Amino acid sequence: MDPRDNVAIVANEGGLAAGTVFDDGLALVDKIPQAHKVALRPIAAGEAVQRYGVTIGYAVADIRAGAWVHERLLRMPEARSLEGLPMATVTPPTMAPLAGHTFEGFRNADGSVGTRNILAITQTVQCVAGVTDFAVKRIKAELLPRYPHVDDVVALEHSYGCGVAIDAPDAVIPIRTLRNISLNPNFGGEVMVVSLGCEKLQPERLLPPGTIALVDERTKEETPLDVVCLQDDAHVGFMSMVESILRQAEVHLARLNARRRETVPASELVVGVQCGGSDAFSGVTANPAVGFCTDLLVRAGATVMFSEVTEVRDGIDQLTSRATTPEVAQAMIREMAWYDAYLDRGRVDRSANTTPGNKKGGLSNIVEKAMGSIVKSGTAPISGVVRPGEKASQRGLLYAATPASDFICGTLQLAAGMNLHVFTTGRGTPYGLAEVPVIKVATRTELARRWHDLMDLNAGRIADGEATIEEMGWELFQLMLDVASGRQKTWAERWKLANALVLFNPAPVT
Ligand code: CA
Repeated sequence: MDPRDNVAIVANEGGLAAGTVFDDGLALVDKIPQAHKVALRPIAAGEAVQRYGVTIGYAVADIRAGAWVHERLLRMPEARSLEGLPMATVTPPTMAPLAGHTFEGFRNADGSVGTRNILAITQTVQCVAGVTDFAVKRIKAELLPRYPHVDDVVALEHSYGCGVAIDAPDAVIPIRTLRNISLNPNFGGEVMVVSLGCEKLQPERLLPPGTIALVDERTKEETPLDVVCLQDDAHVGFMSMVESILRQAEVHLARLNARRRETVPASELVVGVQCGGSDAFSGVTANPAVGFCTDLLVRAGATVMFSEVTEVRDGIDQLTSRATTPEVAQAMIREMAWYDAYLDRGRVDRSANTTPGNKKGGLSNIVEKAMGSIVKSGTAPISGVVRPGEKASQRGLLYAATPASDFICGTLQLAAGMNLHVFTTGRGTPYGLAEVPVIKVATRTELARRWHDLMDLNAGRIADGEATIEEMGWELFQLMLDVASGRQKTWAERWKLANALVLFNPAPVT
């Protein structure tokens, strides 16, 4: 990956046997599984093990050239101090604007653009989830067929809303997350709320007056927030609640159904990138291709968000140096420091991130994982930071601070306003969201072949020598425009695979 590296990974399917000799004379002294590291030269005990030109660990024993370098042979380096980091020191690469690329999207009154036309039903509290789900099933069966230009109906179910310390400072995170998800571009500005009545998160706290422009098109007067409250005296029996939800849903469905796609520039894409079930190929194939595509998107004037605090923590110096201003770098440090303290409160550190699957996939520790994860951000300057649950308010490459947890990261990127999600995986995950299309990119051909009806793109072709990073990046870019336009559905959409919204609630539960 870098001329300074003293290890490389075995790309071959099934790994390679001891005794295998390479063209340069290197002979394997161990059997090495696919994606795992081999020492390119002898490494003495205590010496730095380098991959991506970065120290991913220190050898705990002498390692022979050709030996398997697994996690038990590495001592993890300390996390980089957040003091004295390079701030906005990198001169951004010259990136020519990329014009002429478009997709077919739904323009919203607030200027954002949707890639799908979905009725979302906001819930203030988990208590109403069962009733809303019952109603949504009936909406889909009885109403949706009459509104053919509406793609779907989605209940924004979550576990928040009551039984929580709602005035705790950190409660602002789940509350603004829910608020901003309700305003995601794919919901066309139609906000409909189902509330129980007695919950802590009252509708006006979730969506205070002025949050959304509720102006009646004909009368030009502000209309009240559309809330169906289950405890209303008017509701006698369960069916009357369901009928209320159906009646209100139909009002929104009629408006959504009148919308049509129109040609918009690629700059209207708001792309959230993340990885899950990573392996040692992630940083070699899929993530570099995503990084190349990130640069294309930024050149086209679009917004790209990368996230996952614990997966960039070890590369923080790379990020602060790429910030457009010292203020942006400082905001990144603020998010890292907050997260360090959050983990410390739970008596762990960023090393709690890695999974058994990561290690089986050749990733020895979080440092190595982070170096592979961070390349999704490409080379563009980082022009802003989005705090957890906040809505992105500028274009370009943004750092959206989220946990690396796939479900929480996706949920927070939804709140930030993403209209397209790109997800890379090496071990394989059937991840999907009901709210936005999720394009899944496999890091290995073997995975793409076995999961042929779950993976949307095979970046393993890079390791196979069949495609370059640039070619895969362009292919992903085209696929994104097709998916955003609704011309192509992702596998997760075809099978209707959707994960739950999982809110990030660092505040206490009562
Ligand atoms: Ca993740």
